Amino acid sequence: MKKIAFIGLGIMGKPMAGNLVRAGYDVTVFDLVEQPVEELIRQGAKRAKTVEQLIEGNEIVITMLPNSPHVKTALTDGAEAVIHYVAPGTIVIDMSSISPNVTKEIHHAFQEKGVGFIDAPVSGGRVGAEAGTLSIMVGGERHYFSEVKDILDVLGGRVMYMGGSGAGQTTKICNQIMVAGTVTTMSEALAVAKKEGLDLYHVRDVLQSGGANCWHLEHKAAGMIAGDYSPSFKAELLLKDVRLAVDKAREEGLELPLLRKIEEMFARLVDHYGGGIDYTAIFQQICDDFEQAAK
Ligand code: NAD
Repeated sequence: MKKIAFIGLGIMGKPMAGNLVRAGYDVTVFDLVEQPVEELIRQGAKRAKTVEQLIEGNEIVITMLPNSPHVKTALTDGAEAVIHYVAPGTIVIDMSSISPNVTKEIHHAFQEKGVGFIDAPVSGGRVGAEAGTLSIMVGGERHYFSEVKDILDVLGGRVMYMGGSGAGQTTKICNQIMVAGTVTTMSEALAVAKKEGLDLYHVRDVLQSGGANCWHLEHKAAGMIAGDYSPSFKAELLLKDVRLAVDKAREEGLELPLLRKIEEMFARLVDHYGGGIDYTAIFQQICDDFEQAAK
């Protein structure tokens, strides 16, 4: 079994690395925060004191970091970046959701060193990360994909090859356009129901059995109705994804008017409640706006 270095043990990375350990892989972990490292050591992972130690002897490097600058720093641009230590033949898999253009730049830098680089962003949230049922969208050379498919199968229920470098990230952008849209329209629907004094759990149940049913109604509505916005996917990360989509469309000379409005709404949410709140707090913000408008 291939030896794996795993960088970024947040809401998603920690359970993903844990699943690899349980599947029998030799996993060395790294994060700027100590607590998830300790938890994974208890589960059987190994600790590395430096990036050099982290990379040494490992054939696969996986990153699960917040955004493009974090991934660039960790992989290619930082003084202690992976690229300074990695051996030819290694395959690096970036599972973060980042810019397709930055992905292509990183791909080029590794290619020059004889190192494989594939983009493999995910969808399915913390629940999918814990259960190993993520949807995984892969870009890069197909032969590298084939070499790591067994590893991705541990993490995902659906693992799909989408095309050349950046194709996974572009697919993820499409996913996030829909995620941002459905959570926002569902929040508006629930906020109207709340304003009318309806029982929101009954509304959720009846909507779930008709044409409005969606992943958010099934997995997120109950928490939103209860007012639980402890972070499972931080609002600042959804805002980052919406902006990646707006930028990608703009590059192609396209406008996404609905998404631009949603971008404004999430920027205001992050400004008001902080980026660390769960993205589903958009429901709370819409309710706040309704209250304000009624005054
Ligand atoms: P998170 O903020 O919970 O975790 C990120 C982790 O990266 C943190 O533990 C942080 O300490 C660590 N980190 C940052 N810079 C580092 C560096 N240079 N070296 C080592 N560690 C570093 O984020 P998350 O929710 O786990 O999301 C990770 C990625 O997955 C993001 O791109 C996000 O958009 C995407 N994603 C998240 C979800 C979700 O539901 N949370 C779902 C799908 C995709």
